[in-house]
Amino acid sequence: MKTADRTEEPANALDVRGLRLRLPGTARPVLDGVDLTVAPRETVALVGESGSGKTLTSRTALGLLPPGATAEGRVLVDGEDVLTMGPDRLRALRTGRAAMVFQDPRAAVNPLRRIGDFLTEGVRLGGRTDAAEADRRAVELLDAVGLGPELLRRYPGQLSGGMLQRVMIAAALMGDPALLLADEPTTALDVTSQAEVIALLDRLRERFGTGLLFVTHDLGLAAAISDRVHVMYAGRIVESGPAEELFRRPRHPYTAALLAATPRLDAPPGRLAAIDGQPPDLRLELTGCAFAARCRYATELCREQAPAAHPVACHHPLEGSRADA
Ligand code: SF4
Repeated sequence: MKTADRTEEPANALDVRGLRLRLPGTARPVLDGVDLTVAPRETVALVGESGSGKTLTSRTALGLLPPGATAEGRVLVDGEDVLTMGPDRLRALRTGRAAMVFQDPRAAVNPLRRIGDFLTEGVRLGGRTDAAEADRRAVELLDAVGLGPELLRRYPGQLSGGMLQRVMIAAALMGDPALLLADEPTTALDVTSQAEVIALLDRLRERFGTGLLFVTHDLGLAAAISDRVHVMYAGRIVESGPAEELFRRPRHPYTAALLAATPRLDAPPGRLAAIDGQPPDLRLELTGCAFAARCRYATELCREQAPAAHPVACHHPLEGSRADA
């Protein structure tokens, strides 16, 4: 299968505008006005603690909404709005122009099916290619992720976690996606496999012209691999910027707190600073800044009035370098 010609590619692999997602039983939106873009060949990281909305945002890009969810806004993948697609278009999207690599590769495969069947079933069932062509593509992509064709006959249980995650990445590329979503793709792997998978994603993004949205709780990792970073808290993007700048000079107190909780090679040994407290309960109405109860800079204004989203969702953005934050 020939890789699609991307000379006339749309401006963005992903273009999310004003995304608002509501779930039954919650008092406020779980995603509240999310704006983000991923250009072809660009890596964008979405960073936040568990429950910040980063995984929900990335799953919405595949039309994978939780039961009962209602969405407003626009979520364009390769120029098409996911929020208005019917079930058939969504299925085609998920085996074609958008794909996801999940955290735990073992949870995403059927242990009783051979790797070859797993790799080829999406494009075969989508009717876009015949079995021989699908096999050729599978061998080509296994090679691209550093694995041999003999894996086609193996079962998931015969592969290490790192090898299986490579297979998942190859599977994600089978439909020649414009957009690849990687949700904590290295968390379940050992340190060596983690580094290999990150380097692999980076190479493949460049080679196949794919836009990569990398979802992680690890701001250090996000800054190391991405061009731009969005930091999410309580369903909103609270700070965005070029990775290096945001890492060096965070302006939102939550970004600074995440950084303080990130291991650094050049830091003296000692305990990492955890972020005290929990994100606000979604079942309760919220007045003011969602981070106020955990923020050491909170003022009366913060507790009474929610800050505007841009450029930094904070009434009192930090000045100076990371060391001063
Ligand atoms: Fe902290 Fe206030 Fe900024 Fe919220 S608006 S992050 S409470 S300083």
